[in-house]
Formats: sequence, structure tokens, C-alpha cells
Amino acid sequence: MIIVLLGAPGAGKGTLATAIKDQLDIHHISTGDLIRAEIKGGTAIGLEIKRFVESGGLVPDEVVTRMIEGKVSATASDGKGYMFDGFPRTSAQAVDLDKVLAKNKLAIDVALYMEASLDVVLLRLTGRRVCRACGALYHLKNMPPKKAGICDKCGGEIYQRTDDNEETIKKRMTVYNESTKPIVDHYKAQGKLQTVNADTGAEHVKAAFLKILAVSHVKKA
Ligand code: AMP
Repeated sequence: MIIVLLGAPGAGKGTLATAIKDQLDIHHISTGDLIRAEIKGGTAIGLEIKRFVESGGLVPDEVVTRMIEGKVSATASDGKGYMFDGFPRTSAQAVDLDKVLAKNKLAIDVALYMEASLDVVLLRLTGRRVCRACGALYHLKNMPPKKAGICDKCGGEIYQRTDDNEETIKKRMTVYNESTKPIVDHYKAQGKLQTVNADTGAEHVKAAFLKILAVSHVKKA
């Protein structure tokens, strides 16, 4: 099964992917996580792309597509499938993803559009906190850790992403509306688009998505 998760920053793509990746036994590929790992590791690519992330802009298409290509070609033979989170983010990336998958004799099954309203995503992003060690997600109000500042899962330090400040969030929303939202049409044209209301909270979104997957399996059988 190959899934693309689409939606604004804060729509809950990472939360959904984390909640279902083990159940589906699927690779979760988050370009945001891959990019942050390059930056944290101080690699040549990391140094080159840091400024795009910190300003709320997009990392150039060819850099991100190369990362995805590397991940897919290294793992395609295990047959586990993929859940892409935060990729594609531009029309060019959507076309590139189709090509990378086709090279590996694969194709997208479902593109899930997680439709969320602006006030909801702003509240989620400004309150979002992340574990520096294991990447577990928290929210100051909706899902606080048991002990302030400490990850429940691994004891790591919880921090606020540098791009989760109000000014950068505004820029990211503009970039999303201009560059990413239009690719919904790419998947609509391919007959692969499914939509869920992502304002409703993690449990509801997960249940709605699992229902969609069950139905699309039935249709394919
Ligand atoms: P995310 O964790 O998905 O919110 O991504 C954080 C930041 O990483 C974004 O604001 C972009 O600067 C960069 N980024 C993540 N995915 C992509 C992508 N597919 N294309 C370009 N930039 C990306």
C-alpha cells in the first residue's frame, strides 16, 4: 500500500502516520524529519538547506526528491509500502514521486487530504512540542507530557521547533496555500484523492482513514 498524506502544517499528518504505521506495517517517510536530521547532523546538505526551513520556505525540489529516491530505492524490495508525510509539497514533486515509484514498479494507492481550518492548525502549531531524541509529538494543552519538558516515551528533552513560531508559521501557511494545496488536483485527476475532516482530532481521523483503506481494499479485490 502506498499512501500520500496531504494537508497544511498542523493538519496532523505526522500524528496520523505515527499512530498507524505499525498497524499497517508500512514505511513512514517524513521529509521534514529527514531534513531536520540533515540539519542536526551538520551535513553538507543540512548546511545548504537550513535557511529554507528556518524562514518557513521550501527546500529546493531536486534536493528533497533525491532524498526520497534514495529511501525508496533502498527499501522497495521489502514490499512493505510507504506512507509519505510532507512530500510531495509542489506539483513538480508530485510528478517526481510518480516517476520514482514507477522506476521501482510501484504506484500510489491513496492520497489522503487532511482538510483542516486555519484557526485549528494555528492552535496546534503554536502549542506543538517535540521530543529531541525520539521525535514523539506533544501539545502543551491537548497532549502534554506527564512531566513538563520530558518525553513520556524515552525521557528525552522536549523542545519547540524553531519554525513553530508565529511569524514562520504564517509564511509556511502562505507557502502551503500557494505551492502545496494545488497538488490536491493532481491526485483528484488520478482518481486517488480521499478527504477527511482533520479538525476533529487524532482518534477520529485515524478511524476515518482506516475505514477509507478498508473500502479501497474491497474495491480492489
Ligand atoms: P514539516 O516537518 O513537514 O512541517 O517540514 C518542515 C520544513 O521542512 C518545511 O517548512 C520545509 O522548509 C521543509 N520541507 C519538508 N518537506 C518538504 C518538501 N517536500 N519540500 C520542500 N521542503 C520541505
